Amino acid sequence: MITTILDKALAGKRISREEGLALWCHADWTEMVDVGNDLRKHRLNPNVVGYTAYRLINYTNACDIDCTFCSFQDEVASSRAYVLSLDEIRAKATEALRLGADQILFQGGVHVGIPKQYYLDVLNMLAHELGMHVRGFSPIEIQRYAQNFGMTIPAFLAEMKEAGLASVPGAGAEILTERMRQKLSPKKLPLQDWCDVMGECHKAGLPGSANIVFGSDEIPDDIIDHLDAIRTQQDKTGGFNSFVPWIFQPQTKRFFIRHVTGPEYLKMVALCRIYLDNVVHIEASALVMGKELAELALHSGADDINSYVIEENVLRSRGLASEAAAQKFIREAGFEPKRRKFNFD
Ligand code: SF4
Repeated sequence: MITTILDKALAGKRISREEGLALWCHADWTEMVDVGNDLRKHRLNPNVVGYTAYRLINYTNACDIDCTFCSFQDEVASSRAYVLSLDEIRAKATEALRLGADQILFQGGVHVGIPKQYYLDVLNMLAHELGMHVRGFSPIEIQRYAQNFGMTIPAFLAEMKEAGLASVPGAGAEILTERMRQKLSPKKLPLQDWCDVMGECHKAGLPGSANIVFGSDEIPDDIIDHLDAIRTQQDKTGGFNSFVPWIFQPQTKRFFIRHVTGPEYLKMVALCRIYLDNVVHIEASALVMGKELAELALHSGADDINSYVIEENVLRSRGLASEAAAQKFIREAGFEPKRRKFNFD
């Protein structure tokens, strides 16, 4: 049965939810990564691995969503709440430009006390004054801010796009099943709302990525239901340029995290490549997984290393700290590096 499913995928046919579940539960990980790698080579230039360079700017750590895995509420509880000023953001972005990044990932906290003009000023400054690509706002930020400003989501997105927003991260997805939502972040958007907001972004000409974060007490059905939701949304609005499998990182004591083995991570990379037949790029993350596993992921279905990151406080030691390091990493893994834009243009 497993061989039949893998042959079906290799023949370019879409596998069903039940077939995906069978692969995740019963397939040998080495068989999976072989097929993931073959599909990646067939669909994309087999010699090239993409990378990009961005700086993550968390404009605030104040947030009332209370996700169990997030350390922001601990920072706020210990009086380390902040909202970055326009000048502070300009200084961070200017430094990122000097270090070779041309893109900003702009995310909170969900802080409804910040006026709309703040976002317009920041986006204008980043996009028009500094000429950077800005990817910003997770679906929960979009939904809450639109509501707070008395706007529809399309109207909010149109105004932010006009100010300089260029794409959106499909952040805050983690695992989009009701069972896991209740454990992770009951105040975040439920599955259909998350998909609807991402769909509005795509329709507004704001493409982006999506991800899965695993390594807690999710069950196989959670994983397949999550991938199926992304594939279904992609069929409708087509704005996910890439998909990134991550694992949960220890940030708080309120949330159970289990060890994800190397084979399990690689099997997930392959499953994403096999199941998400309508998402072109699968990204490996040296930042989260370490260089050795990211290297193997590039031979398991991934074709991109996500990025090198100018600043990521929690995980900096494991990532790639410069463009030269990113290129060296890709070459040593056996590929030609290609610097891409956030939207894979
Ligand atoms: S919404 Fe984001 S910032 Fe807020 S608690 Fe959840 S993960 Fe943290």
